[in-house]
Amino acid sequence: MKLVFLGPPGAGKGTIAAEAKKVYGIPHISTGDLFRANIKNGTELGKRVQAILAAGDLVPDEVTIAMVEDRLEEDDAKAGFILDGFPRTIAQADALAGMTQLDRVVNFVLDKEAIVRRLSGRRVCKSTGRTYHILYNPPKVEGIDDETGEPLIQRDDDKEEAIRNRLEVYEASTAPLIDYYRTKGLLVDIDASKSPEEVLKSMVEALS
Ligand code: AMP
Repeated sequence: MKLVFLGPPGAGKGTIAAEAKKVYGIPHISTGDLFRANIKNGTELGKRVQAILAAGDLVPDEVTIAMVEDRLEEDDAKAGFILDGFPRTIAQADALAGMTQLDRVVNFVLDKEAIVRRLSGRRVCKSTGRTYHILYNPPKVEGIDDETGEPLIQRDDDKEEAIRNRLEVYEASTAPLIDYYRTKGLLVDIDASKSPEEVLKSMVEALS
């Protein structure tokens, strides 16, 4: 199954993808996670994109497209994948159409107030990228990752100024992809306001 997860930042794409990859036995490919791993490892790419991520702006299309193209060529992605956070522009979507044929695009629908509530309460484990929410999806022990025991952090771009910018960027560049994929008959709308368990269940039902 070749899936794209579309939706505003904070809609829960990463949380659902982490479970959905087990359901379908396909890799979860998050461009945000790939960029963050490059930043953490101090690669050339990481140095190039660090300030862009911190501000909540978009990495240039050609850089992002090349990274995804390389990733989709790896063996584990041959049978299927969940692309989370890509495409984010029409140019990226056109490039993706040239790389592979998608089965469905899942559009996680969430209103603005809920988005801000979710992003400001989001905490992540830096080494694994696993995400939590202080209210809606808390770790077993406050501030600590369930599996690694590491302290959880707040992403720079989950702070207020960057959140506002990311929402503007989403509206201007990414929201047009909803119509783009609806016109192609690929879009499945999912109400993302429910708990992760309920969202996953309704998505699996909608895709079956
Ligand atoms: P995410 O974890 O999906 O919220 O992505 C975090 C940040 O990585 C974004 O705010 C962008 O700076 C960058 N990024 C992730 N995916 C893309 C993409 N498809 N195109 C451009 N920038 C991206």
